[in-house]
Amino acid sequence: MSVLTRDFVPAVAPSGSDLIAPDCRGLNFWAIDHAIRDLLMLYLDEAALRHFTPYFERLGELAGGRLDELALQADKRTPILHHRDRFGGDADWVEYHPAYREMERIGFSEFGLHAMSRRAGVLGWPGTAPPLAKYALQYLFAQAEFALLCPLSVTDTSILLIQKYGDERVKQRYLPGMLSQDMDALLKGAQFMTEKAGGSDLSGIELAAHRAGDHWELWGDKWFCSCADHDVVLLLARCQGAPAGNAGLSLFVMPRRLEDGSRNRYRVVRLKDKFGSRSMAAGEVIMEGAVAYILGEPGRGLRQMMDQVNLSRLSHGFRAAGMMRRCLNEALQVARHRRTFGRTLIDHPMARRQLLKLMVPTEQALSVAIAAAVAMTRGDEAQLRILTPLVKYRACRDNVPVATGAMEMRGGNGYIEDWANAKLIRDAHLGLIWEGTSSVNALDIIRRAVGRDRAHAALAGALHARIEQAPIPEAFRARLAALIDRAVGFAETVAKLPSAEASCRRAASALYHATSAALLASEGAELGSRGGDARRLLLARLVLDHRLGSTDPFALPDDAWENAVSGKLLSDDPVPLPEATTLLAA
Ligand SMILES: Cc1cc2nc3c(=O)[nH]c(=O)nc-3n(C[C@H](O)[C@H](O)[C@H](O)COP(=O)(O)OP(=O)(O)OC[C@H]3O[C@@H](n4cnc5c(N)ncnc54)[C@H](O)[C@@H]3O)c2cc1C
Repeated sequence: MSVLTRDFVPAVAPSGSDLIAPDCRGLNFWAIDHAIRDLLMLYLDEAALRHFTPYFERLGELAGGRLDELALQADKRTPILHHRDRFGGDADWVEYHPAYREMERIGFSEFGLHAMSRRAGVLGWPGTAPPLAKYALQYLFAQAEFALLCPLSVTDTSILLIQKYGDERVKQRYLPGMLSQDMDALLKGAQFMTEKAGGSDLSGIELAAHRAGDHWELWGDKWFCSCADHDVVLLLARCQGAPAGNAGLSLFVMPRRLEDGSRNRYRVVRLKDKFGSRSMAAGEVIMEGAVAYILGEPGRGLRQMMDQVNLSRLSHGFRAAGMMRRCLNEALQVARHRRTFGRTLIDHPMARRQLLKLMVPTEQALSVAIAAAVAMTRGDEAQLRILTPLVKYRACRDNVPVATGAMEMRGGNGYIEDWANAKLIRDAHLGLIWEGTSSVNALDIIRRAVGRDRAHAALAGALHARIEQAPIPEAFRARLAALIDRAVGFAETVAKLPSAEASCRRAASALYHATSAALLASEGAELGSRGGDARRLLLARLVLDHRLGSTDPFALPDDAWENAVSGKLLSDDPVPLPEATTLLAA
């Protein structure tokens, strides 16, 4: 496939009325997404790209069609918890709308998203899937459905923990079912850590584990349990006699059903009535002597669980990038069709500025998430260490205003549940909260990844090398190089000073923006030098102006440059490298 190949897809979707701007329903989200296609050409190896492209196309079609319809239906017909079966037995079970079940079939069975990193052969790929292929599929999936990505991702990461830390008995008992794509045989995973005492700080966990021969029995409560009715639950508990704090936590696997098929001794007592992610059943669970098996060594539970948390954080980066892409595409659809005051919306200067404000964070998130997945593929632990919380923190944070901006672009219709916007806003907020809130991730970046692990050094080295090697105009390259150094220097300063803790978010944001600008610029230049689209170079400049620059609130901004390039960026036509270079210098 050549970089120049850009299948043109008409932007107009069928609409009930010419007066109402269309949405993206009916479009193929892979075919219309030049950015992901260009970046996979840069970063995914050729054989994998060739092999997975039909699956990207298929999921792109589903995300813009059937999956999107199902997602809106399931969002409104939320799961119901039943405490008894029809014979009066105390068998709690969750009833789902058929739309949710159909989405499960697409995610687990058709695409095997939960299994493709953990066993060979999913989607016909001879080994385990390259990380970037899996995350690109998640990115497409998230454009239609966010909630189901939790069950898919948590099953994926639960398999990893069992593969890594389980003994042979545990592996044989659970892995075949967890790795299955047959919905009748599939065992889905879940992970319960949070208790009433806290989710950010898990040191107060009280769930007690008592030894009982070859297994353990769990007593206590878990307060936030996504996928509450799933089959194989990983959780943190405190063995009897273990010390207080994190050092006393161990990792356990708790099956929903015991070997004889009977229900294990725990109950889902309530489902949460959630703001977003409404189709997924999250509940409160009480363990009453539930049978569980320890994974790995006692006292190392939190450290082992962090494998899961970090993978999940990266997945959240891709989910946020996907949801922002959907928001941006929705906003562009409206802007290209809605007329106000005698003009199409996209021709109003202020609307163009708002569209750029949706576009810039979307492209930043995609570049940084992909950089993390590439670091994972290459086994570059230091870069992965810092890029993962960076993208979790900033992309999830940006997703919120981007989703709101997309709703506002649609006007009143955006507020109505017929359209995807309201769901996108609700779902975006969850990305801020779980797998570490914004502040918890910012502390991880600055205090631990920078201050303790010195992971920023590897990142800075790689970014400098990238901008050196790419054909970026000299003056702009110098600007980028200086910014990388300033961002790294500020992160180090904040990491060193205990009194600067309140600035961790600011330092992490600056590092993210500098990182994304360097990535965007080098990607734009590399794509352009191959005869493809160099627009990411222009986006890099917008990151500098919008996200790292400061403006005087009482002065007219110098926005001549932005006005000059906005037309290029808001059109689908590629920007060749010579043109991008000229524009950059203007
Ligand atoms: C829908 C949903 C599903 C969930 N599913 C699961 C699940 O399946 N398994 C699971 O284990 N958990 C789950 N959670 C729990 C989630 O992980 C926690 O809610 C999250 O980690 C935050 O913990 P908390 O709610 O106790 O808030 P807290 O930890 O009390 O945080 C409250 C506020 O304090 C801030 N804060 C905390 N520490 C600091 C600090 N050092 N400096 C500055 N600010 C700080 C936080 O940023 C936050 O703004 C789920 C939550 C939701 C909403």
